[in-house]
Amino acid sequence: MVDYDLERLWGERFRLALAGREPNMWRYRELLPVEHAGSVVSLGEGWTPVFQVPGLAARLGVRELWVKDEGVNPTGTFKARGAACGIARAAELGIGDVALATAGNAGEAWACYGAPIALRVHVAMPADAPEANRLQCRLYGAHVIDVDGLISDAGRVVEEMAAERGWFDASTLKEPYRIEGKKTLGFELAEQFGWRLPDAVIYPAGGGVGLIGMWRAWAQLRAIGLLEGDWPRLIVTQSEGCAPLVRAFELGLDEAPPWPDAETIAHGLRVPRARGDFLVLRAIRETKGTAVAVPDRLIVEAMGELGRRGVSASPEGAATLAAAMRLRERGDLGNEDRVVLINTGSAGNYDEAVAIVTPRRL
Ligand SMILES: *Cc1c(COP(=O)(O)O)cnc(C)c1O
Repeated sequence: MVDYDLERLWGERFRLALAGREPNMWRYRELLPVEHAGSVVSLGEGWTPVFQVPGLAARLGVRELWVKDEGVNPTGTFKARGAACGIARAAELGIGDVALATAGNAGEAWACYGAPIALRVHVAMPADAPEANRLQCRLYGAHVIDVDGLISDAGRVVEEMAAERGWFDASTLKEPYRIEGKKTLGFELAEQFGWRLPDAVIYPAGGGVGLIGMWRAWAQLRAIGLLEGDWPRLIVTQSEGCAPLVRAFELGLDEAPPWPDAETIAHGLRVPRARGDFLVLRAIRETKGTAVAVPDRLIVEAMGELGRRGVSASPEGAATLAAAMRLRERGDLGNEDRVVLINTGSAGNYDEAVAIVTPRRL
């Protein structure tokens, strides 16, 4: 009897089908949870460029250094992926109001994707979140709730208000669809690198959803026989001002205790308690990756370094370059490594950080 690997054949058919599809994240629709193509509001999310920055690999002393530039997504961050998917599913489920706690960027993305279908979006953000985020949310017609505290406090506010008013709570990892959207980051990297991933991928983790998403994406591609070669080492970076995942990794813990007095210029990384901590830690360990914290001073320097090379990076995105430098120094990256930095967002909304990078000359 001949034994066919049907799942493998499925992967091959999928690969061939991709050739004729639109360059956005919905090209992976068979592996996404949205049931009807008509539920999707596409504003051009996904299929972001991945490129080598001239001179940077040599400066670092690695074989290749790639930047996956998520800053060109609608609203300027990779949050567009989760929002596009989450909003499409909310529409399919007949939900009229969604609420979420956000450091700023997720709220902006959900507000943007809710706007074309007139879904009411309620966004709770720390009062010291970037003003640009707050204004953009209003521009898209969202209801903004200022919370005196951190994102975890905003989470509690959303939970209470959602229960009281019947809103759908779409905060990080409270609904299953956001991570499915972020998974497309992993599909894209695999496809863009010809179904064989580089040696290491550095990701700036807040809640870590993007990292869990990539891990999940690659497991799915493997299951259908589409991904060759070894797993890339998944590397997490955080700011020294809020590094619960890094500390937990270093201590060999399976969960990350909350980080007291979280403070960093990279607002997206200011998540003192990550709901998916155990998954992030497992992803790092299973892929033989690592974790490293970097000070805000080096994050801002890296932002300047990328800017001078033509790459607009948010502090979160720039943290990956600062991390790469540290990891090269301590030997966790070698001169033969091919490395990908996930630039999760552009510098667009970060006036405060940009002002530090570019002091006015007298
Ligand atoms: C939200 C965010 C992050 C962190 O993403 P998680 O999925 O919470 O780990 C990183 N960078 C930027 C620009 C963000 O907006």
